[in-house]
Amino acid sequence: MGKYLDLKSNYKREKLREASHAIQEGKLVLFPTETVYGIGADGLNKEAVKKIFIAKGRKSDNPLILHVSSIAMIERIAKDISPLEYKLIESFFPGPLTIILNRREIVPNVVTANLDTVGVRMPENKIARDLIELSNTPIAAPSANISGKPSGTNIEDIWNELKDRVDYIIDGGETKIGLESTVIQVIEDEIHLLRPGKITCETLEKYGKVVLSPHILKEVKEDEIALSPGMKYKHYAPNTNCILVYSDDSSKMIEYMKKLEKENTLVITNDKNISCFQNAIGYGTTLEEISHNIFKILRSVDQKKKDLVIIEGVTKEGIGLAIMNRLIRACSHHYIEI
Ligand code: AMP
Ligand code: MG
Repeated sequence: MGKYLDLKSNYKREKLREASHAIQEGKLVLFPTETVYGIGADGLNKEAVKKIFIAKGRKSDNPLILHVSSIAMIERIAKDISPLEYKLIESFFPGPLTIILNRREIVPNVVTANLDTVGVRMPENKIARDLIELSNTPIAAPSANISGKPSGTNIEDIWNELKDRVDYIIDGGETKIGLESTVIQVIEDEIHLLRPGKITCETLEKYGKVVLSPHILKEVKEDEIALSPGMKYKHYAPNTNCILVYSDDSSKMIEYMKKLEKENTLVITNDKNISCFQNAIGYGTTLEEISHNIFKILRSVDQKKKDLVIIEGVTKEGIGLAIMNRLIRACSHHYIEI
């Protein structure tokens, strides 16, 4: 079992010394960021990075994001950074944004799945940034979950799943945002949004034209190439069948969900609508609350042993687009918009 380190309170940077040595020795460290928890390893050590793919059961053609603590560290792993890319880095780092940049040779192929590019993010979470700084190397870290499952937003949720698959477990409490970072790639001065997140399309539009990846809300077909390879895979899904319902007209949506509700179903809905259903749990009222709670709720549904889970969708504006991107995948694209 991985060694547990409780940093939920009385955090001091010194307490990370041992975990940073573990990173330097090529071991796996579970750690918090402001988005979701990550399974981290030295991103420049290919043997260490391979262990991440084994621990998660992740397909080798799905590249990892390198987490950095300084601009100098970005320049060690990426080259030909354009003025617009520097502008985005200066504006949003540290924070929940990943930028796909041209990679340098120093980055092992196993990190990038043999692509010429590398995903780079500078987390805002103090524990994450201190761990990277003390390790003095970029940390490769996908979300902390077995591939296909919802990402971990607190240690309790992923304890059984991952405790024996990592060497070190750093508990920093609940993650602030609860959804993975926004992923973008600048191509010919246009900002391509590959995965929506807390940094929204509307915010990015202030920096240039934003092009939405067609796969944000749609399935990737067998013969299609996705700019973000992660979009191809089953994601965030409970074992129980789930269906997502949405309408701009709230009363129409509730009526439709009521019709779907049977004896052994569970409804996941806005707190305001709980009383409309026989058996429902609330995911919060604001988009911020919903993004913070949604993975925890998706992780809890299998224990309830239902035949079907009916999930209320949200507007696709602001961080709503990120929530819908995750929910559509959690429902394996079983989505009804009325
Ligand atoms: P996760 O590791 O679970 O946070 O997911 C990272 C996401 O970023 C996945 O969807 C990856 O496919 C995507 N990604 C990472 N590196 C690259 C890259 N070089 N080019 C395109 N997408 C990337
Ligand atoms: Mg993930």
